[in-house]
Amino acid sequence: MAKVVIDAGHGGNDPGASGNGIIEKEYTLKISEYIYNRLKDLGLDVKMTRTTDETLSPTERVNRVLDAFGNTSDVLVISNHINAGGGDGAEVIYALRNKDTLSNLILSELENEGQNIRKAYQRRLPSNTAKDYYFMQRNTGNTEAITVEYGFLDSTGDDVNQLKTRWEDYAEAVVRAVIEYLNLTYVPVEDGNYYTVKSSDSLWSIAKKFNVSVADLKETNGLTSSMLSIGDVLKIPTVEEEKTKENVYIVKSGDSLYKIAQRYNTTVNELVALNNLNSTALNIGQTLKIPTSSTNTYTVKSGDSLYKIAQTYNTTVNELVALNNLNSTALSIGQTLKIPTSSSSNTYTVKSGDSLYKIAQANNTTASRLMELNNLSSTLLSIGQVLKLN
Ligand SMILES: [Zn+2]
Repeated sequence: MAKVVIDAGHGGNDPGASGNGIIEKEYTLKISEYIYNRLKDLGLDVKMTRTTDETLSPTERVNRVLDAFGNTSDVLVISNHINAGGGDGAEVIYALRNKDTLSNLILSELENEGQNIRKAYQRRLPSNTAKDYYFMQRNTGNTEAITVEYGFLDSTGDDVNQLKTRWEDYAEAVVRAVIEYLNLTYVPVEDGNYYTVKSSDSLWSIAKKFNVSVADLKETNGLTSSMLSIGDVLKIPTVEEEKTKENVYIVKSGDSLYKIAQRYNTTVNELVALNNLNSTALNIGQTLKIPTSSTNTYTVKSGDSLYKIAQTYNTTVNELVALNNLNSTALSIGQTLKIPTSSSSNTYTVKSGDSLYKIAQANNTTASRLMELNNLSSTLLSIGQVLKLN
């Protein structure tokens, strides 16, 4: 089985480069999580050097690379970075011991995604030109270790906007290149709302895959039979469509609206409104309509990461991990996650001694998320400034 180590450059005390609302260590982590999840979904054996905002010395990082699958030439190592220095476009660095095949595949896939490409190159240590300049190539033994620089966060060209809006497409470009390099079968990300029928599929297996019912699947697609043909495109019922259905609950002794609301992940107000109640008093045997809880759950799709889902629902990876009792950040397609109901919008007033990092840490978010939320173009704050936190 193909073995790949994904390295998110920098981390912890070492943010890497930053500017224009991009902090390198955060982008390298989300790009790495994306590639990790995709390659895993595609059946590869994948490990990451870091999965959190962790400080890693070069030695520790290299040890994790070599410990992942051993020091052998069939291990691919992809170290993800964002460049700085005012250029524009992507670069790939490869080791003196390797050929440029994988690097050039990556650059051509990035070019297909509309990114400028600069070059694939090797760099030699001036004091000993038999050695690689960068430790990620020099100290990674026999592995095939490359460094991908996706673009320049201080570009005067279009890199900044491209990195912010297209990073997932660039990460997917690397996934395609790796699959091509290893001579494996590439399967594109399924659009969350549509699915193309494959040879081994049945309505039942598709329904199971997307955590919907066969009846809903048939209804959404106007199917009158269960026959499918390979290549048929099915629309997958979305959470919104599922939400309109209601359950009922029969009141038992000892029940209160509050207790029932808690059990069904809803609120007393919602129950009162849905049932046109004039008071919160209940009678045993009374029938209550219950809103389905689908608004508070999410079904994992191919290409998802906890980070992406957290961003979509305005929450944090930590909160998702805690709420769902997860032991790792790895997800499987079809897995159902509880989503925290959104707390009311919070704000924070900047005090003397604050920094964006401090505020982000205290509020379980990231500096770049705060910059995005508040349309900040730099990390500089002024005392008394009011920041949106979510
Ligand atoms: Zn870097």
